[in-house]
Amino acid sequence: VPALTGGCQCGSVRYVLAVAPARTDLCACRMCQKAVGGPFAVLAQVPREHFAWTRGTPGAFRSFSVASRNFCRDCGSPLTYSADVDDVITVTAGTLDTPEVAWPVEIWGVESLMPWLTPDTLATLPRRHSDEDPTLPPVVSYQHPNRD
Ligand SMILES: [Zn+2]
Ligand SMILES: [Zn+2]
Repeated sequence: VPALTGGCQCGSVRYVLAVAPARTDLCACRMCQKAVGGPFAVLAQVPREHFAWTRGTPGAFRSFSVASRNFCRDCGSPLTYSADVDDVITVTAGTLDTPEVAWPVEIWGVESLMPWLTPDTLATLPRRHSDEDPTLPPVVSYQHPNRD
């Protein structure tokens, strides 16, 4: 398996996974909701020995007594969640350069799942492409590209 790369929105912090994620989970717990600013985190897991930072130094926050989360101090992207009690680390799947490789297999934190997060809602919301916003003038992206 070729190495998978990823990083934050601004490109200050980059990482590499030497192997494909062993599994990916959704977590809708309140801590993950706060950490990612969304209804759930999508966390792709690899053995810690197969994870390395390749650029920059992330910030860290201990969200509870035996776990910490890394994030970019410059742009705020949430990057990892890891518990001290095992030898795995999870990356936020959206920060992978190829996020579609991480296919979730389980939902955690269902006690705080958003009530609107139902198959029916997802199936019936109107759909738009991101370049369809008529309120924006022509824009230039400052997001780091999907590669090192
Ligand atoms: Zn950043
Ligand atoms: Zn969580």
